[in-house]
Amino acid sequence: AAGLWFVATPIGAARDITLRALDILASADVLVAEDTRTLRHLMEIHGLRLGDRPLIAYHDHNGAEARPRILRHLVEGRSVAYCSEAGTPVVADPGYQLARAAIGAGHPVNAAPGPSAAIMALSISGLPSDRFLFAGFPPAQAGARARWIEEIGTIPATLIIYESPRRVQRLLGEFCEHWGEMREAALCRELTKRFEEVRRGTLGSLRDGLAGDAPKGEIVLVIGRPLEVAPDAADVDAALAEAMGRMRL
Ligand code: SAM
Repeated sequence: AAGLWFVATPIGAARDITLRALDILASADVLVAEDTRTLRHLMEIHGLRLGDRPLIAYHDHNGAEARPRILRHLVEGRSVAYCSEAGTPVVADPGYQLARAAIGAGHPVNAAPGPSAAIMALSISGLPSDRFLFAGFPPAQAGARARWIEEIGTIPATLIIYESPRRVQRLLGEFCEHWGEMREAALCRELTKRFEEVRRGTLGSLRDGLAGDAPKGEIVLVIGRPLEVAPDAADVDAALAEAMGRMRL
Protein backbone atom coordinates (compact mmCIF):
# COMPACT_ATOMS: atom_id res chain seq x y z
CA ALA A 1 0.00 0.00 0.00
CA ALA A 2 1.16 3.54 -0.72
CA GLY A 3 2.77 5.44 2.14
CA LEU A 4 5.81 5.23 4.35
CA TRP A 5 6.60 1.92 6.03
CA PHE A 6 9.05 1.59 8.91
CA VAL A 7 10.34 -1.95 8.67
CA ALA A 8 12.07 -3.46 11.71
CA THR A 9 15.10 -5.62 10.93
CA PRO A 10 17.15 -8.06 13.08
CA ILE A 11 19.46 -6.85 15.88
CA GLY A 12 21.76 -9.81 15.34
CA ALA A 13 20.21 -13.11 14.28
CA ALA A 14 19.31 -12.68 10.60
CA ARG A 15 16.19 -14.86 10.91
CA ASP A 16 14.62 -12.43 13.39
CA ILE A 17 12.59 -10.73 10.70
CA THR A 18 8.87 -11.08 10.30
CA LEU A 19 7.18 -12.59 7.26
CA ARG A 20 5.29 -9.35 6.84
CA ALA A 21 8.54 -7.35 6.90
CA LEU A 22 9.87 -9.57 4.11
CA ASP A 23 6.63 -9.10 2.13
CA ILE A 24 6.96 -5.33 2.43
CA LEU A 25 10.64 -5.37 1.42
CA ALA A 26 9.75 -7.59 -1.54
CA SER A 27 6.94 -5.36 -2.77
CA ALA A 28 7.70 -1.73 -1.83
CA ASP A 29 8.16 0.57 -4.82
CA VAL A 30 11.07 2.36 -3.18
CA LEU A 31 13.54 1.15 -0.54
CA VAL A 32 15.27 3.51 1.85
CA ALA A 33 17.99 2.45 4.27
CA GLU A 34 20.23 3.97 6.91
CA ASP A 35 22.93 1.72 5.50
CA THR A 36 22.23 0.50 1.98
CA ARG A 37 24.86 -2.25 2.19
CA THR A 38 23.30 -3.74 5.31
CA LEU A 39 19.87 -3.80 3.68
CA ARG A 40 21.20 -5.34 0.47
CA HIS A 41 22.91 -8.03 2.53
CA LEU A 42 19.78 -8.77 4.57
CA MET A 43 17.67 -9.01 1.40
CA GLU A 44 20.23 -11.35 -0.12
CA ILE A 45 20.10 -13.65 2.92
CA HIS A 46 16.33 -13.87 2.57
CA GLY A 47 16.34 -14.29 -1.21
CA LEU A 48 14.77 -10.91 -1.98
CA ARG A 49 15.72 -9.01 -5.12
CA LEU A 50 16.03 -5.27 -5.39
CA GLY A 51 15.52 -5.39 -9.17
CA ASP A 52 15.34 -1.94 -10.71
CA ARG A 53 13.72 -0.32 -7.65
CA PRO A 54 15.42 2.76 -6.24
CA LEU A 55 17.44 2.25 -3.05
CA ILE A 56 17.99 5.56 -1.27
CA ALA A 57 20.38 6.18 1.64
CA TYR A 58 18.83 8.10 4.54
CA HIS A 59 20.91 8.71 7.64
CA ASP A 60 21.75 11.39 10.19
CA HIS A 61 24.09 13.21 7.83
CA ASN A 62 22.00 13.45 4.67
CA GLY A 63 18.42 13.67 6.02
CA ALA A 64 17.83 17.24 4.85
CA GLU A 65 18.77 16.39 1.24
CA ALA A 66 17.22 12.93 1.11
CA ARG A 67 13.84 13.78 2.66
CA PRO A 68 12.46 15.84 -0.28
CA ARG A 69 13.36 13.02 -2.65
CA ILE A 70 11.57 10.46 -0.48
CA LEU A 71 8.54 12.74 -0.06
CA ARG A 72 8.30 13.13 -3.83
CA HIS A 73 7.89 9.36 -4.14
CA LEU A 74 5.10 9.51 -1.54
CA VAL A 75 3.39 12.39 -3.38
CA GLU A 76 3.51 10.28 -6.54
CA GLY A 77 1.62 7.53 -4.71
CA ARG A 78 4.44 5.04 -4.18
CA SER A 79 5.05 2.75 -1.23
CA VAL A 80 8.33 3.50 0.52
CA ALA A 81 9.96 1.06 2.98
CA TYR A 82 12.54 2.41 5.42
CA CYS A 83 14.99 0.25 7.40
CA SER A 84 17.55 1.48 9.89
CA GLU A 85 20.79 -0.39 10.33
CA ALA A 86 19.32 -2.74 12.92
CA GLY A 87 16.18 -3.12 14.98
CA THR A 88 13.28 -0.72 14.96
CA PRO A 89 13.68 2.52 13.00
CA VAL A 90 13.32 5.76 15.00
CA VAL A 91 14.35 4.04 18.28
CA ALA A 92 17.76 5.69 18.83
CA ASP A 93 17.99 5.65 15.04
CA PRO A 94 17.07 7.98 12.16
CA GLY A 95 13.49 8.17 10.97
CA TYR A 96 11.78 10.61 13.33
CA GLN A 97 12.01 13.63 11.05
CA LEU A 98 11.00 11.53 8.08
CA ALA A 99 7.89 10.39 10.00
CA ARG A 100 7.09 14.01 10.94
CA ALA A 101 7.51 15.21 7.38
CA ALA A 102 5.38 12.40 5.92
CA ILE A 103 2.63 12.85 8.53
CA GLY A 104 2.74 16.63 8.06
CA ALA A 105 2.24 16.19 4.32
CA GLY A 106 -0.73 13.89 4.91
CA HIS A 107 0.82 10.59 3.85
CA PRO A 108 0.05 7.30 5.59
CA VAL A 109 2.81 6.19 7.97
CA ASN A 110 2.82 2.57 9.02
CA ALA A 111 5.23 -0.06 10.34
CA ALA A 112 6.15 -3.70 10.24
CA PRO A 113 7.05 -4.09 13.94
CA GLY A 114 9.83 -6.36 15.06
CA PRO A 115 13.00 -6.57 17.12
CA SER A 116 14.33 -3.79 19.28
CA ALA A 117 17.30 -4.24 21.62
CA ALA A 118 15.55 -2.10 24.25
CA ILE A 119 12.49 -4.33 24.49
CA MET A 120 14.42 -7.57 24.32
CA ALA A 121 16.70 -6.42 27.14
CA LEU A 122 13.72 -5.37 29.25
CA SER A 123 11.99 -8.69 28.73
CA ILE A 124 14.96 -10.78 29.85
CA SER A 125 16.25 -8.44 32.58
CA GLY A 126 14.01 -9.79 35.33
CA LEU A 127 13.23 -6.19 36.33
CA PRO A 128 9.73 -4.72 36.67
CA SER A 129 8.22 -3.96 33.28
CA ASP A 130 4.94 -2.34 34.30
CA ARG A 131 6.52 1.08 33.90
CA PHE A 132 9.74 1.78 32.03
CA LEU A 133 11.61 4.69 30.50
CA PHE A 134 13.76 4.37 27.40
CA ALA A 135 16.49 6.94 28.06
CA GLY A 136 18.54 6.29 24.92
CA PHE A 137 22.27 7.07 24.86
CA PRO A 138 23.76 9.26 27.65
CA PRO A 139 24.82 12.74 26.50
CA ALA A 140 28.58 12.94 25.86
CA GLN A 141 29.13 16.46 27.19
CA ALA A 142 29.88 16.56 30.95
CA GLY A 143 27.27 19.10 32.09
CA ALA A 144 24.44 17.62 30.05
CA ARG A 145 25.45 14.18 31.23
CA ALA A 146 25.32 15.12 34.92
CA ARG A 147 21.89 16.73 34.43
CA TRP A 148 20.66 13.64 32.58
CA ILE A 149 21.84 11.37 35.39
CA GLU A 150 20.12 13.56 38.01
CA GLU A 151 16.95 13.81 35.96
CA ILE A 152 16.39 10.12 35.25
CA GLY A 153 17.68 8.99 38.65
CA THR A 154 14.51 9.73 40.60
CA ILE A 155 11.95 8.52 38.08
CA PRO A 156 9.99 5.62 39.61
CA ALA A 157 10.35 3.36 36.60
CA THR A 158 12.73 0.79 35.15
CA LEU A 159 15.30 2.55 32.94
CA ILE A 160 16.59 1.27 29.60
CA ILE A 161 19.85 2.78 28.40
CA TYR A 162 22.08 2.24 25.37
CA GLU A 163 25.82 2.69 25.85
CA SER A 164 29.00 1.81 23.99
CA PRO A 165 31.16 -0.95 25.47
CA ARG A 166 34.07 1.48 25.87
CA ARG A 167 32.10 3.77 28.14
CA VAL A 168 29.81 1.42 30.02
CA GLN A 169 32.05 0.88 33.02
CA ARG A 170 32.47 4.62 33.50
CA LEU A 171 28.72 5.09 33.19
CA LEU A 172 28.05 2.43 35.83
CA GLY A 173 30.54 4.23 38.09
CA GLU A 174 28.72 7.53 37.59
CA PHE A 175 25.37 5.91 38.38
CA CYS A 176 26.86 4.44 41.59
CA GLU A 177 28.14 7.89 42.62
CA HIS A 178 24.82 9.61 42.05
CA TRP A 179 22.32 6.91 42.96
CA GLY A 180 24.26 4.58 45.27
CA GLU A 181 25.45 1.09 44.41
CA MET A 182 22.42 -0.93 45.39
CA ARG A 183 19.93 -0.47 42.56
CA GLU A 184 19.25 -3.68 40.68
CA ALA A 185 20.45 -3.79 37.10
CA ALA A 186 21.06 -6.03 34.11
CA LEU A 187 23.81 -5.61 31.55
CA CYS A 188 22.68 -7.23 28.28
CA ARG A 189 25.32 -7.76 25.64
CA GLU A 190 25.30 -8.98 22.03
CA LEU A 191 21.60 -9.90 22.11
CA THR A 192 20.59 -12.67 19.67
CA LYS A 193 24.26 -13.02 18.64
CA ARG A 194 26.86 -15.71 19.24
CA PHE A 195 28.33 -14.13 22.37
CA GLU A 196 25.04 -13.08 23.93
CA GLU A 197 25.39 -12.54 27.67
CA VAL A 198 23.25 -11.12 30.47
CA ARG A 199 24.79 -10.12 33.79
CA ARG A 200 22.33 -9.37 36.57
CA GLY A 201 23.23 -7.75 39.88
CA THR A 202 23.47 -4.39 41.56
CA LEU A 203 24.94 -1.30 39.91
CA GLY A 204 28.00 -1.74 42.15
CA SER A 205 28.54 -5.41 41.37
CA LEU A 206 28.15 -4.86 37.63
CA ARG A 207 30.66 -1.99 37.75
CA ASP A 208 33.14 -4.10 39.73
CA GLY A 209 32.65 -7.04 37.37
CA LEU A 210 33.91 -4.92 34.48
CA ALA A 211 37.00 -3.63 36.29
CA GLY A 212 39.94 -3.38 33.90
CA ASP A 213 38.15 -5.30 31.19
CA ALA A 214 35.94 -3.39 28.73
CA PRO A 215 33.23 -5.71 27.41
CA LYS A 216 32.95 -6.23 23.66
CA GLY A 217 29.99 -5.76 21.37
CA GLU A 218 26.68 -3.98 21.77
CA ILE A 219 25.16 -3.24 25.15
CA VAL A 220 21.85 -2.37 26.76
CA LEU A 221 21.67 -1.49 30.45
CA VAL A 222 18.41 -2.06 32.30
CA ILE A 223 18.17 -0.51 35.75
CA GLY A 224 15.54 -1.08 38.41
CA ARG A 225 13.62 1.83 39.91
CA PRO A 226 15.07 3.76 42.88
CA LEU A 227 15.07 1.78 46.10
CA GLU A 228 12.39 2.81 48.52
CA VAL A 229 14.40 3.58 51.62
CA ALA A 230 12.51 3.72 54.89
CA PRO A 231 13.59 6.85 56.77
CA ASP A 232 16.19 6.09 59.36
CA ALA A 233 15.09 6.86 62.96
CA ALA A 234 18.23 8.93 63.57
CA ASP A 235 17.49 11.01 60.42
CA VAL A 236 13.94 11.65 61.64
CA ASP A 237 15.27 12.79 65.04
CA ALA A 238 17.81 15.09 63.40
CA ALA A 239 15.19 16.60 61.08
CA LEU A 240 12.83 17.15 64.01
CA ALA A 241 15.53 18.80 66.13
CA GLU A 242 16.45 21.03 63.23
CA ALA A 243 12.83 22.04 62.59
CA MET A 244 12.29 22.78 66.26
CA GLY A 245 15.46 24.85 66.30
CA ARG A 246 14.12 26.94 63.45
CA MET A 247 10.76 27.39 65.19
CA ARG A 248 12.43 28.98 68.23
CA LEU A 249 13.94 31.71 66.04
N1 SAM B 1 17.05 0.84 16.47
C1 SAM B 1 17.82 -0.07 17.29
C2 SAM B 1 16.87 -0.90 18.16
O1 SAM B 1 15.66 -0.89 17.92
O2 SAM B 1 17.32 -1.59 19.06
C3 SAM B 1 18.85 0.65 18.12
C4 SAM B 1 19.89 1.39 17.31
S1 SAM B 1 21.13 2.20 18.23
C5 SAM B 1 21.95 3.19 17.03
C6 SAM B 1 22.33 0.98 18.52
C7 SAM B 1 22.41 0.59 19.99
O3 SAM B 1 21.37 -0.35 20.28
C8 SAM B 1 23.70 -0.12 20.36
O4 SAM B 1 24.72 0.79 20.69
C9 SAM B 1 23.27 -0.94 21.57
O5 SAM B 1 23.22 -0.11 22.73
C10 SAM B 1 21.84 -1.32 21.16
N2 SAM B 1 21.84 -2.62 20.47
C11 SAM B 1 21.56 -2.84 19.17
N3 SAM B 1 21.67 -4.16 18.88
C12 SAM B 1 22.02 -4.78 20.04
C13 SAM B 1 22.29 -6.14 20.41
N4 SAM B 1 22.22 -7.13 19.52
N5 SAM B 1 22.64 -6.40 21.69
C14 SAM B 1 22.72 -5.41 22.61
N6 SAM B 1 22.47 -4.12 22.31
C15 SAM B 1 22.13 -3.80 21.06
